[in-house]
Amino acid sequence: MDTKMYRNTWAEVDLEAISYNIRQMRNRLPGHCAVMAVVKADAYGHGAVEVAEKALASGAKMLAVALLEEAFTLREANITVPILVFGQVQPEDVPTAADHDITLTCFQKEWVRDVNRLSLPLPVKVHMNWDTGMGRVGLRTEEELKAITKEIHSSSSIRLTGVYTHFSTADDAGFDYFEMQHNRFKEFLDMFKSIRHEPTAVHIGNSAASIRFPERMYDYIRFGIAMYGLYPSDVLKEEYDIDLEPAFSLHSRLVHVKKMDAGESVSYGATYTTEYEEFIGTIPIGYADGWIRKLQGMDVLIEGERMPIVGRITMDQTMIKLDKEYPAGTKVTLIGKQGDNEIETDEIAEKLDTINYEIPCMISNRVPRLYTTN
Ligand SMILES: *Cc1c(COP(=O)(O)O)cnc(C)c1O
Repeated sequence: MDTKMYRNTWAEVDLEAISYNIRQMRNRLPGHCAVMAVVKADAYGHGAVEVAEKALASGAKMLAVALLEEAFTLREANITVPILVFGQVQPEDVPTAADHDITLTCFQKEWVRDVNRLSLPLPVKVHMNWDTGMGRVGLRTEEELKAITKEIHSSSSIRLTGVYTHFSTADDAGFDYFEMQHNRFKEFLDMFKSIRHEPTAVHIGNSAASIRFPERMYDYIRFGIAMYGLYPSDVLKEEYDIDLEPAFSLHSRLVHVKKMDAGESVSYGATYTTEYEEFIGTIPIGYADGWIRKLQGMDVLIEGERMPIVGRITMDQTMIKLDKEYPAGTKVTLIGKQGDNEIETDEIAEKLDTINYEIPCMISNRVPRLYTTN
């Protein structure tokens, strides 16, 4: 299939913004520390291959994803840099990962033993994950650390190339828990260095930790949400002087505009009834595109002005209360700038009682992504 767009709804991904955000971050980092671009979940809904290529062209040295499938997608696009998979990969899938030179995450002795039994012709690269307080995956005690390091040492199927941890509160107002994790990490690292002498990459920071403590970062930062131009939390948005440019915007067009009399109703359940004579417009986006029903009442931008979504959002279509008559074909912006006005991803997240991370991820792949470079 070609890339012709048959529908009047699309997301725009500004690749120059991705580049700008990486430069903003690199300017803060010490020279020895490189950017690992986190492009899991189809680059947080922005498109993994396009974002990965732009990130690498902007100075990122490594990529990270959550799933093995996501790593294969990047290799199929002829991307050859190191790719780290954060999630657990089943031992039986390790040979395929090794064939594609994918770096895996390990933290269980049993996993190391199972991979060892595979007697791989070329060892699989792994980074070891230390759970210093996230409580998700990773080894938790110094006994486990010693045992697994020994097991890896004697393995010809595994090559340890990195160690890492992940902070659970790096975007919070308080620092106590963060410092506890950081101290725990330093204890682990001392112990590790006393038993292992080969050079091993170290990385600890997500966007929030690396914006706050660039000087504490080691060989890489794992740069996710801020690369997309979104702040990890309100605390970071308000208190830290890094300028980020959002890469994602969402647009549609009026496909139908009608004048309704006072007292007529709109959409399922007839939950909205016109008070006066009103112009009501229809846009072809709905909950199957990820524009979920809870967004009823949210504003959109038309010719730079805010206008509300009225009536229930349907699977494929949504109605807007217009301030006057507009011709069919008029552009409607659901996320992003129009004129002097802007609807930020953060505003949508607030309306949905969630975090900005969720918003581009939830716009389904039924919505085509168009790439702009300004
Ligand atoms: C998703 C993820 C990141 C990226 O975090 P951001 O807050 O988006 O920067 C980093 N490290 C790990 C282990 C992750 O799972």
